[in-house]
Amino acid sequence: MIYTGGTIAMSREQDVLRPPQDPSSFLSIAPEIHGLAEIEFVTLLNKDSTNMVPSDWSAMANAIHDRLDLGFGGFVVIHGTDTMHHSASALAFAFGSGLNVPVVFTGAQTDASVLHGDARINLIRAVRVALEPIAEVVIAFGDYVYRGSRAQKCDRRLFRAFESPAVPPVATISEKILLHPSVHRVTPEQRPLDFRPSFDADIVQVTLIPGLKPSLMAPLLESSSLHGIVLQCYGAGNVPDFEEYSFLPFIEEAFRRNIPLIITSQFSADSTDDSSYEPGVKAIQAGAIPTGNMTGAAAAVKFRWILSLLSQEIHSRVTVSSDKIARVKALMATPYVDEMD
Ligand code: ASP
Repeated sequence: MIYTGGTIAMSREQDVLRPPQDPSSFLSIAPEIHGLAEIEFVTLLNKDSTNMVPSDWSAMANAIHDRLDLGFGGFVVIHGTDTMHHSASALAFAFGSGLNVPVVFTGAQTDASVLHGDARINLIRAVRVALEPIAEVVIAFGDYVYRGSRAQKCDRRLFRAFESPAVPPVATISEKILLHPSVHRVTPEQRPLDFRPSFDADIVQVTLIPGLKPSLMAPLLESSSLHGIVLQCYGAGNVPDFEEYSFLPFIEEAFRRNIPLIITSQFSADSTDDSSYEPGVKAIQAGAIPTGNMTGAAAAVKFRWILSLLSQEIHSRVTVSSDKIARVKALMATPYVDEMD
């Protein structure tokens, strides 16, 4: 069990929820889990997940990778809900399709002092799910198990805090854990593991709102440390193309400067490669890279992962810098862990 923090373990002091002083006492909220499995508890981080950064994803991935050959049947990651879907996506890309054990993220909407809350039950359920022959990174929350790279947080109060908008859950938690046919199952023979736990730190995301002037964003393109831009658009990737509000010159300039720019949707996992509207089609023609029906979280995490991969390729001269955008486009369109259709 890799502990990183979150409400599930927080304590309330003067009505403010804070990470506990001593995370090692966390398992006392559900001592019965020791009857389900033999558990090694690792305090890796102790944060509100609001403060997670890409190097934390690498640390989580490494903590699991270091233990893969030590005989553990599964891993549970205790994590805050706010960015759990980002971390779960990151670990899915880090391990790729060769992962042959369950990696189960969980957290809670309430701390354990709320008797009718979900801290205790989610912990027990996550341990139970980690005993199943699941071979992928998942989020076990409430009554369902979601593919990590497809999930997103959908509510800040309800005990059903997560959803996977483009695909059904991979398992249902009832008296039995019902694995759905889509879940990746453990195989008897080991599969080759392509472990890549690095993520580019230097991207920005811009969310479109009506009347946003691209001229305010133009200085971004001058930054020598900027490696990529996520433009969160309307509908199926529609971008304003009218008068001084047109983002097309901004996209063209990013392209000219060899800065990859991906477009995501403000809708849940809408497909950004099939806009039939002129503003969407023109954005792609100007050089924007679509992200299919990935969630916004999965697309941004994959972008960081691919940019890191590419900087290694460019460093070792496998790819030339001038091919960067074409290569990002090809890799973004490649499904690695069922993160897109
Ligand atoms: N802010 C908290 C966190 O993400 C929320 C939670 O855990 O539910 O760590």
